[in-house]
Amino acid sequence: MIQNYLLYLGYMTNKIQAFFENQKDYICCRKGCAKCCKKAQFPYSEIEFKLIYEGLKELDANIQKQVLDKIDKVIIEKQKHNEESPQEKFRYDCPFLINDECSVYYYRGLICRTFGLMTFVPDSAKTPNIPFCAYEGLNYSSVLDEAKNNISEEKFAQTRFKNEPMAYNIDYSTLINEEISQGFGFKFGEVKPLIEWFIQWKDEIITSRY
Ligand code: SF4
Ligand code: SF4
Repeated sequence: MIQNYLLYLGYMTNKIQAFFENQKDYICCRKGCAKCCKKAQFPYSEIEFKLIYEGLKELDANIQKQVLDKIDKVIIEKQKHNEESPQEKFRYDCPFLINDECSVYYYRGLICRTFGLMTFVPDSAKTPNIPFCAYEGLNYSSVLDEAKNNISEEKFAQTRFKNEPMAYNIDYSTLINEEISQGFGFKFGEVKPLIEWFIQWKDEIITSRY
């Protein structure tokens, strides 16, 4: 089944790359910029987790140890968070982030591949979901109307860029659509924050570690 998921992942990655290319005037993503890999929840479906776990197993011993140590640390932080403020969502730095670079780049999940683009949910009013880093002077900041929390047509006109700023139908809920996965012959399975998969798989990870 994972082979079928890989086919889908290749197909969707090509589409997402084309969107990035179309929007390149607004994109500041570069190696070492990793704000989007920090202080978030990182939803992962079961099949995405299985793939990233393969990536973990492939890492060289030194990097793998660093990632496993970070996983342990985040699990402890989560336990503390649950005791102190259980009503609030737990946000954490992704344990795969080593020296501000993704250590499992080719195995990363779908949500990670869309970081930085504007997305929308098709059944809403198609309101663009502007990346948080626009408010930090990064992607789309040149056309952001911060006060109105939207993209400014006036600012776009001033840029003289050829391509308009666009939001794409690649919200996570769309990417893991069941009909699409059935067409490719696989199932995404349950979805939960990446760190919760590690809590569930802790015994297996410990076995592979020692
Ligand atoms: S898997 Fe890689 S790209 Fe995704 S959040 Fe973690 S470090 Fe970032
Ligand atoms: S999405 Fe934003 S925070 Fe993430 S790499 Fe791109 S510019 Fe940096």
